[in-house]
Amino acid sequence: MANDLGRQPDGSAEARLPATLLLRAAERQRAAATSTLLGVALVAYAHWGGPGQAFVPWFVLVRLAALAWSHAITRRIQQLHAGGEPFMHLEWQFILAMGAGGAAWGLIGWMVPDLNLADWAARDLFSAIIMVFISCMVLITLSHHGRALLAYMCAQWSVACLYMVLAPGPLAKALLIFVGIAGLVAVLLLYGRLLQRQTRQGVLAELRNDDLTARLQQANRQLEQALEQAVAAANHDPLTGLLNRRALATQVDYLAAARRRHGGACSVLLLDIDHFKRINDSHGHAAGDEVLRALAATLACTLREVDIIARWGGEEFLVVMPDCDIATALVRAEDVRAGVARLKVAALPADYRLGVSIGAADWPLDAGFDAVVSRADTALYSAKEAGRNRVEQARP
Ligand code: GH3
Ligand code: MG
Ligand code: MG
Repeated sequence: MANDLGRQPDGSAEARLPATLLLRAAERQRAAATSTLLGVALVAYAHWGGPGQAFVPWFVLVRLAALAWSHAITRRIQQLHAGGEPFMHLEWQFILAMGAGGAAWGLIGWMVPDLNLADWAARDLFSAIIMVFISCMVLITLSHHGRALLAYMCAQWSVACLYMVLAPGPLAKALLIFVGIAGLVAVLLLYGRLLQRQTRQGVLAELRNDDLTARLQQANRQLEQALEQAVAAANHDPLTGLLNRRALATQVDYLAAARRRHGGACSVLLLDIDHFKRINDSHGHAAGDEVLRALAATLACTLREVDIIARWGGEEFLVVMPDCDIATALVRAEDVRAGVARLKVAALPADYRLGVSIGAADWPLDAGFDAVVSRADTALYSAKEAGRNRVEQARP
């Protein structure tokens, strides 16, 4: 709940505190509606047939009206909160509704006509107990909202005491009872203030905790993203986006372990762009970079997803092809060579034909990776020697 309020634009825990307190007070008031109905029924039953019977219908009517009012406001507050809309403009209505509720309970005092405590009937004693009990309950249910609590208590006991001022009988006795009640209310309000302060501090701590948790979660998300980016940067060549040599070594280790267990053919291609230095020298380094990116893209879309493609050096690329015998690897290498020959690079003249020389070697199960790369390198050298832009198969 506090987190929901946290999504409101006003930000800090202190700014969200009044709305949170009002919302909690409203929630408790709604929950207390059942006990209110029960209390009204009990008081009405106790006084029916007694000297204060004439007041009973008024008491019931006023108390139910106040209950309906506070129910409508608390419901509205909850609805607005659920819809993410502001609801603090209802605070004064809430306080007034609470005051009306207290005043309605105060009417109980009007059904206890005899101020002579010695002659009190059971119903009068019951009413006094109910009045004090209600005050204690309200202390708890309105502990989130000091002003609403004050309105409730003051209204309840002023209405109850009003009868004493107007009632026939000795003024001194009425005053005595009034002073006694005032003392009781003062003590209750003192407790209420303490309770409210503690509740407020508790809610504020909860809101701050929510803020800290949210900030911590955000920091964690940022850290995770940074870590992902760092891992990606550590494993990829920034220019082409292909795996770098280090990441290739890790993947080759996994592949070698899997092949020791399950067997299967595997082939390796080593590629080198022809006359790349000339491209740099004649058309600029940026044009060379564009060629490298274009070649990387050609490799990625010509080869399979399972093929491990890495930038091996400056303008050299290495491909490891699991579950691929040398005959198939030669076909794939020729596809790549033909694809590169068809490449059109914006930074180069339209009639510029790119060439790539490729050395292809099979990777026997009992051979080390370095030995296979060395054979592929020799084949690549042969391709260069034989005139470039061709595929050569390594000798066993
Ligand atoms: P060959 O046909 O025999 O392979 O000749 P070559 O010119 O391709 O080979 P050489 O080894 O003489 O030149 C490779 C050049 O690649 C030299 C180097 O400046 C360039 N190079 C290396 N890395 C990069 C890069 O990231 N970007 C660019 N634009 N050039 C690079
Ligand atoms: Mg080279
Ligand atoms: Mg080259």
